[in-house]
Order: sequence, then C-alpha cells, then structure tokens
Amino acid sequence: MGLIRSWRRRRMLARTKLDAALWQRVTAAMPFLRGLRDDEMARLKELAILFLAEKEMHGAQGLVLTDDVRLSIAVQACLPVLNLGLDWYEGWVGVIVYPGEFRVRKEEMDEHGVVHTIDEGLSGEAWPGGPVVLSWQDAGMLETGYNVVIHEFAHKLHMLHGDDEGFPMPTPDMDAAAWVVTLERAYARFCAEVDSGGPTIIDEYAAEHPAEFFAVMSETFFTDSAILARDYPELYAQLAQYYRQDPAGVLATTGSAS
Ligand SMILES: [Zn+2]
Repeated sequence: MGLIRSWRRRRMLARTKLDAALWQRVTAAMPFLRGLRDDEMARLKELAILFLAEKEMHGAQGLVLTDDVRLSIAVQACLPVLNLGLDWYEGWVGVIVYPGEFRVRKEEMDEHGVVHTIDEGLSGEAWPGGPVVLSWQDAGMLETGYNVVIHEFAHKLHMLHGDDEGFPMPTPDMDAAAWVVTLERAYARFCAEVDSGGPTIIDEYAAEHPAEFFAVMSETFFTDSAILARDYPELYAQLAQYYRQDPAGVLATTGSAS
C-alpha cells in the first residue's frame, strides 16, 4: 500500500510540469512563505502537485476554479504538512469552494436539552471523514494572522486520529504529557484573557473550544509566527515540534524543531 502509493506519487511528479509563472505568481502573494528555504519551497511545490492530483476540488454556486485558485488553496493546505507528508490528509478527498461565505443550518442542543436551529454564515468548515468547505473570498485573503485554509486543514489533523473534539494527538516523537499540559495551560490563559474583556491580537474565536484553539493557533503559527513565539513561547515550541517547522526562526540555534 505504502510502496504503491509512493511509486504513484513519484510517477505523478515526474509527469507533471507546473507552470513556472503560475507558481511564482501564486506563492509571491503569500507573505508567510517568505521564510522558507529553496529546498522547502521545492518540497511545498511537490506536495501541492500531489494534493491537486489526489484531492477533488469543486466550485460551488457557479464559482469557476481557475488554476490560480486551485494552486493557492493547495499551497496553503500543504504548508502545515510540509514536513509531515500528505498522508496526514488521508481518508477523504473533497474540497468544496464557495465564492464567499456559505450558509449552514444545523441543530444544537443547549445545556437544558433544548434544541435550537442555527442558521449561520461560515468562511470554512471541515467534516470528519468528509470534505473541507471553503469560502474563496476568505481563502484568497492571505492576511497575517488569519488563514481559513490552514484553520480548516488543522481541523483535519486532529480529526485524523479519531478525535474531532479537541487537541490532536502529539506525533510519536513528542513528549505527550508536555504537549497536553502546554496546550491546556495556553488555552486556559487565552480564555482568561478573552474573559477579561481586553483586546487580543489572536482571534478570540480560539476561546470557543480546544479544537478551535488548535486551529486558530495553527493559523497564527504559520502566518504570524513572531507574535505567537513572543506571546506564547511554550505553545510555539510545542507547535514547532508537532509541525516540524520553525517559521519564526527562534528555535534554529538549538535545533529543537528539526
Ligand atoms: Zn474551526
């Protein structure tokens, strides 16, 4: 299974030629890629090619998926797994892209057992074992500290190990206790900051739920890394171990993120 898959991937990469101008145009628009070395950019390109080959991307509500849109989403989705590999996104194939916010209707039970029907506009959603749904209006923003693609694909990582409710499992080489304690402490501290009413640099939505905390902190880790490394150094170090990346470049001298 693994051998066949890697043979298929090598063959796919050998056969696929990504337009150089397209790659240049799409990646130049992403400020958060600027810290990557040439070999990392080359690996990101390979992952994006494989992502586009293995996932099925569909435009909803008449959205036409141009090569730029498809590659932009693929590159953003592959950044978190740059050093983990595409198998971290296995078990599902669909990516659905709406032109803008999409409306979702769902029922939720409150603490009194009363079921409420909620109709809300979303910029992204990830289904356990199912598709990732994105708003292109948001996915194409490429802002600092906000990235709906990384957010939704971070959800896919904690869903991979059967937990769609909380923090992802640490990778096997990590200290599992340190991972859990650090995330729990950071989550509690962030929730306290939000409760105190002061403005937070990091999106308050992170206080909603441990799974949202992980997803939002992953957005910050990749697109506003210096802020996370400064304000939450222990969390930053754990995420650097988890993703095997050090986007802020603060761990480079100790080599602990390699
Ligand atoms: Zn979320």
